[in-house]
Amino acid sequence: MVGASDDDVRYVHEADNLPYYHIGSVNGISMVTIDVIGHEITHALVKKTAGLIYQYESGALNESIADIMGTMLERYMLPNNWNWTLGEDAVTIRDMRTPEIYSQPSRFEGPGWESPGNCPFPFLGNDYCWVHTNSGVMNKWFHLVSTGGTFNGQNVNAIGPHAAQQIVYWALANYLQSQSTYSDARWSTMAAARDIYGECSNEHRAVIAAWNAVNVISPVCPGSGGRIAAEQIENSAESIMKVYPNPATDFVTIQLFDPITTVDLQLYDMTGKVIKAWNTKESTITFATKGLVPGIYTLKAQTPKGIYTHKVIINQ
Ligand SMILES: [Zn+2]
Repeated sequence: MVGASDDDVRYVHEADNLPYYHIGSVNGISMVTIDVIGHEITHALVKKTAGLIYQYESGALNESIADIMGTMLERYMLPNNWNWTLGEDAVTIRDMRTPEIYSQPSRFEGPGWESPGNCPFPFLGNDYCWVHTNSGVMNKWFHLVSTGGTFNGQNVNAIGPHAAQQIVYWALANYLQSQSTYSDARWSTMAAARDIYGECSNEHRAVIAAWNAVNVISPVCPGSGGRIAAEQIENSAESIMKVYPNPATDFVTIQLFDPITTVDLQLYDMTGKVIKAWNTKESTITFATKGLVPGIYTLKAQTPKGIYTHKVIINQ
């Protein structure tokens, strides 16, 4: 969706097998422009791939990926006459280079960021908890990765829009999931950059530097690398461990199945910070959730067989 008013532009979900597009108008000016059409078609692509839910951070990622692909369609169609704004052939509504111009944040939890914690009930009236606002962060990230530059004290080497687009598409198709957050977007695009261009390639480094620049803090390269958040990996974690109850309130139990010898376990919060860590031969670990902020955490298990991740939801 481009705007959240009655005369906005939206991908209409009702006709799943035959999607049609209601391209509306803003202030009476038609919004039928290449970037806006690309934006709307991308919503259909997102629905068929990661399925990012249209609220909170997953909704902001959905919006940003629609802006990214819409802008890249404009670049493809108008190679000599494209730009980083959205809808400029009618009414400009967003600017990926300088999101602040249209009241969007360019840094995670920075000025202009709308905290999901202050938005208990997503609905149209609050833009599903500000999906068209918080999308500015990933838009800025994409612009930085593509064109390079120094932002927020970070130096980012340009990899060009084409490579940046490939990385986003790969992350969307293979790693992002319906409830992904900015933290997941960081790990997913890092993993995609590694898959396509190699560990610690210029592209991998640029992806990391640009996330750091927009305050989604990432390890330097070489580091722990990308979290493999693909559904098949999430599923395969079920073959080595069980986490229950999940969602959890007071306690979480991790049960590791044999034949695993020693396991490195780490619990990460949404910013990628290690909250708890264990190196254990025990098959059952229980920890209290007291003091942990409610939300989505990632449990990473490093075993002789490989690295597995498991989402842990903590409610209190
Ligand atoms: Zn949209």
